[in-house]
Amino acid sequence: MTQMKESQATEAQGALPRVSHWIDNKIVPSTSGKSRPVYNPATGEQTKTVDIASVEEIDAAVASAKAAFPMWRATSLAKRADTLFRIRNAFDSHRDEIGALITAEHGKVLSDSAGELARGIENIEYACGVPQLQKGEFSEQVSGGVDVYSIRQPIGVVAGITPFNFPAMVPLWMFGNAIATGNTFVLKPSTVDPSVSLYLAELMKEAGLPDGVFNVIQGDRVAVAGLTEHPDIAAVSFVGSTPAAKRIYETGSQAGKRVQALGGAKNHMLVLPDADIGLTADACINAGYGSAGERCMAIATVVTVGEVHDPLIEAIKERLPQVVVGDGTKPESMMGPLVTETHRDKVAGYIDAGEQDGATIVADGREHPLYKESDGFYLGVSLIDDVKPNMSCYTDEIFGPVLTVVRVDTYEEGVALINSHEFGNGTAIFTRDGGAARQFQFDIDVGMVGINVPIPVPVSYYSFGGWRASLFGDTHMYGPEGVKFFTKGKVITSRWPDPATSEINLGFPRTK
Ligand code: NAD
Repeated sequence: MTQMKESQATEAQGALPRVSHWIDNKIVPSTSGKSRPVYNPATGEQTKTVDIASVEEIDAAVASAKAAFPMWRATSLAKRADTLFRIRNAFDSHRDEIGALITAEHGKVLSDSAGELARGIENIEYACGVPQLQKGEFSEQVSGGVDVYSIRQPIGVVAGITPFNFPAMVPLWMFGNAIATGNTFVLKPSTVDPSVSLYLAELMKEAGLPDGVFNVIQGDRVAVAGLTEHPDIAAVSFVGSTPAAKRIYETGSQAGKRVQALGGAKNHMLVLPDADIGLTADACINAGYGSAGERCMAIATVVTVGEVHDPLIEAIKERLPQVVVGDGTKPESMMGPLVTETHRDKVAGYIDAGEQDGATIVADGREHPLYKESDGFYLGVSLIDDVKPNMSCYTDEIFGPVLTVVRVDTYEEGVALINSHEFGNGTAIFTRDGGAARQFQFDIDVGMVGINVPIPVPVSYYSFGGWRASLFGDTHMYGPEGVKFFTKGKVITSRWPDPATSEINLGFPRTK
């Protein structure tokens, strides 16, 4: 295997590399004439272009997946599991290359790219257990000579539409289980950091995945609409912002598809007065500013109960100068740039909005030298205190390195605040009181809860999903619910009777 893969090759001498589609296990350049720039967020330079699919190209990807489906669903469980093991090993032995691609287009620091990939690969490892995961149930002798058993079968061609912030992990949340259970897959990654999708596709081909089982379509809303409404797509798994998630859930459901659509977030950390101040301050910084706050499970708002407020703010403030912002490829950098200039400016706008609304700007990321001097999309870390629930810096998902702080007097007030926010993706409580933590897990109206764990992303053998406007649909992503989403149940009632005992009986079949 060569270091430079086909997916990274330049189209012509001097031209920027072009990121195209992946159909039938090969690169397929678009003929739509449409493309978008891809940037390195650390330098602000355009490094590539990404093709934007035409309707015909979307159809071609779906047709490839449709043609491969009968063969792939008939492939033995042992062979499918073996292929998944090979894919896992291929990803594992190219961690550095995949991580470097993530950092080059997303901007997150290399150690964070490695972490994203590690959590993504966990999902392939889970899917390697498909012979066990896809087992049905069997009941012998439900009636005289009658047995009943259930099986789970793949649903067909399924689509994954994924966001910019985890260009490897979120697709891996989806396609491991989808492919392992016998479906064929069409991925539509974000146009902001599209290269990883092709690199993974090439590795899967080398690992022995047959043509058509995994396809990639680069594109925008046309591609999303094309997949969501396509008559040959059986299910859509989406992760992204809430307005898009809601629209895709509605459109896909109306078109008769199974849809799971994960949306935005505003994760709160409730800090009780007995919490350890140093440990909690570290957690606020790690979970608030890691990956420049561009994580759907980032802590966005710290809710302080009573007297814990002042010492906690002081401890966070004291630690802020330790956060080294810089190019994600530099080992000393702890936080890279934001993903695009537009997004960086939108995030910075919330600092102004907070100030105008009367909040206290304890730290302003716009004062960071890289914000002022670099062409990269940098913003330093910001801490906004005295935030009130009606301010836009509280109501909106900022998705950047901006930590907002709301004071409450009691635990009950904190829980009511968290439960009344539009989003219910993740939340955390920091306390040394086990009873209070248990009560929180009971009371809180949020899908994923951390107890002294600020980013409670479930491991791959549980499932991931928020509540309220953070998820549309009824199955969570990956793990057991992912297997359920990508398979449909069938129940067989079976009898091998002696023809001599046969008679005419028009009554409804009874078991007793
Ligand atoms: P996004 O909604 O802009 O894009 C997600 C995907 O949908 C991309 O592939 C994009 O091309 C496509 N898309 C964008 N706008 C669309 C539209 N109007 N109609 C149809 N398709 C559209 O999201 P993003 O900016 O790439 O990612 C950040 C968002 O994703 C944040 O809101 C974050 O909270 C969310 N997110 C959620 C989770 C979760 O598990 N709940 C995980 C990661 C990211």
